[in-house]
Amino acid sequence: MKKLLKNKKILITAGPTREYLDPVRYISNDSSGKMGYALATAAKKMGASVTLISGPTHLKKPAGLNFISVVTARDMKKETLKKFKKSDIAICAAAVADFSPISCKNKIKKHKIKNIKFTRNPDILALLGKKKKSGQTLIGFALETENIRRNSVKKLKEKNCDIIIANSEKNIGSDIAEVDLVWADGTSTLLKGTKTTVAEKIIKEIVG
Ligand code: C5P
Repeated sequence: MKKLLKNKKILITAGPTREYLDPVRYISNDSSGKMGYALATAAKKMGASVTLISGPTHLKKPAGLNFISVVTARDMKKETLKKFKKSDIAICAAAVADFSPISCKNKIKKHKIKNIKFTRNPDILALLGKKKKSGQTLIGFALETENIRRNSVKKLKEKNCDIIIANSEKNIGSDIAEVDLVWADGTSTLLKGTKTTVAEKIIKEIVG
């Protein structure tokens, strides 16, 4: 495989985050992490120095990269911001939970739960968009169930991304994927195949 990413530092977030209500209960998003891990593996094969920041998944850690394991959105934000400064490309493929409950140290008795209060989690991709410097490329994912193109273009502008990868819920947990790369000029590129081949195609599209 061509070393298209030689001397490039690439940062990838993957998997879900977990937001704990108490030591045994949490809310999360449905995400296997397969797409993010496939991107990390493809980037590594193409010669990049890869940092993979991952929420909890059942996947095997890919070899030969800097793997950082996180649990909550706040942990992921901290680690991602630290690594972003020195990255040439960042791909946020994680399904970050948008809310976290106010958590308790001990297991809550079920008869005591009446209402659960949530706070908004930081939007990591949007924060990276604010910090992005010239020469850095920022890519986000968008899982949309309706108005996919319109919502993806909106997200691209709001989060100051270079590409949004529009994704559908059919891809969750699957080994195959169909994604639409939405570019800042409003054009798009449809890619399909196994997550391994789609990841390689995505990297080739990014590098140009
Ligand atoms: O806004 P939405 O959740 O659809 O955006 C999806 C994109 O934003 C993904 O790239 C995801 O990794 C990122 N994101 C994030 N932090 C959040 C929510 C989403 O980085 N709190």
